Amino acid sequence: MPPLAFFKGKFVPLSEAKMSIMTHAFLYGTACFEGIRGEWNERKQELYLFRVEDHYKRLFQSCKILNINLPFELEELCRLTVELVRRSGYKEGVYIRPLAYKSSEAIGVRLHNLEDDFLIFVIPFPPYLDLERGVRCMISSWRRVEANMIPPQAKITGLYVNSALAKTEAFMKGFDEAIMLTKDGYVSEGSGENIFIVMNGKLITPPPYDDILVGITRDTIIKLAREELGLEVEERRISRAELYMADECFLTGTAAYVTPVVEIDHHKIGTGRRGEITHKLQKLYLEVIRGEREKYLSWCTPVYSERA
Ligand code: PMP
Repeated sequence: MPPLAFFKGKFVPLSEAKMSIMTHAFLYGTACFEGIRGEWNERKQELYLFRVEDHYKRLFQSCKILNINLPFELEELCRLTVELVRRSGYKEGVYIRPLAYKSSEAIGVRLHNLEDDFLIFVIPFPPYLDLERGVRCMISSWRRVEANMIPPQAKITGLYVNSALAKTEAFMKGFDEAIMLTKDGYVSEGSGENIFIVMNGKLITPPPYDDILVGITRDTIIKLAREELGLEVEERRISRAELYMADECFLTGTAAYVTPVVEIDHHKIGTGRRGEITHKLQKLYLEVIRGEREKYLSWCTPVYSERA
């Protein structure tokens, strides 16, 4: 079965999903997207898509910022996504990329008087960062884009140049990942992940007003930490020094899952190894997204069987 895409209203082989070099979104970064995980559960022989509805709700919000009229309702988007993955027949972890974009073939920097379209593709996707050993990070010299420049709460393709600059700077300096600060020097987030620290048994994560993308994994971890581990979770400003002093630190994201941070700017975080709370949350999160936790099964959409 060749890889498939949903493109211009139809399911087509990925190799046929092509667009013009004059497409507005390509010329100006005027598209917004989501990244959704599908987790293969070997025991149940089922592929579960995690919090699909919440991802599409966030896509609707991004579309508002970009003046994009999505040609489908929420339910239809979820249904199309499940159908695309089912038709593709994957029995392994996948990454699904829905994209809403300015599809006019037109020159001119603007968001008005342009056509919109929507596509989805799906690819197999192994874990993105090292989940066991953890990652070594640097504080980026690139500041996070602020809300009055391009709203970082929207997942806009053009905005990702900011993340790409930070990621490549980190890579070229021998680190695994970048942590970006806000214009005022507070901790914002990773290039494609939210950040948490553990201090005296409490979880702390930057608030939405510190220019983060409000992650669905972030929300999941906040809920799991409170409900399953009985931990206190605080959303508040974090200074750079607090990062260095934290007992534990980890990144969260659809692609990154829960990734331990073991070093920042050559400072060891805690023991310099994956922390205990990080490990517990990591295990819990993986069980939840694989559909192994009954209580959270409503977050998991099965691809091959109807929801029980
Ligand atoms: N921040 C940025 C900049 C991201 O690209 C992502 C990945 N979507 C996240 C945070 C984490 O968001 P989520 O947990 O919804 O994947």
